[in-house]
Amino acid sequence: MKTIWLQTIELDPQASAKPALGERCNGCGVCCAAEPCPVALVLLLQRRGRCRALLWQEAEARYVCGLVVAPHRHSWLIPARWSAGAGRLLATRIAAGAGCDSAAEVEPITTPGSPS
Ligand code: SF4
Ligand code: SF4
Repeated sequence: MKTIWLQTIELDPQASAKPALGERCNGCGVCCAAEPCPVALVLLLQRRGRCRALLWQEAEARYVCGLVVAPHRHSWLIPARWSAGAGRLLATRIAAGAGCDSAAEVEPITTPGSPS
């Protein structure tokens, strides 16, 4: 029996559509807008909801992980002087740049006032 979990998440209208599971990550933001990953659980002490470290990059029109690009700004556990090294390490822990590991199926909805 297949279990279906419905959840509403908000993403920038310019964000790319989510690719299929295993395809190249395009920074769509779906996974991190839906729930925090294990790294967020440890470093942000966040168990549910949209990850606080999820950052929208306007210039690149993609979401990135704040714990990779500027970890000291998101977790008090990481001092600024360790930030660059910690970001590189955390990029390996979240498999940044690897294939999409989210099996979520996305159904776009429009709200009043949003572009159609
Ligand atoms: S892992 Fe998948 S859902 Fe998460 S940002 Fe990358 S493409 Fe989007
Ligand atoms: S990858 Fe980064 S932004 Fe995404 S849930 Fe984990 S800590 Fe948050």
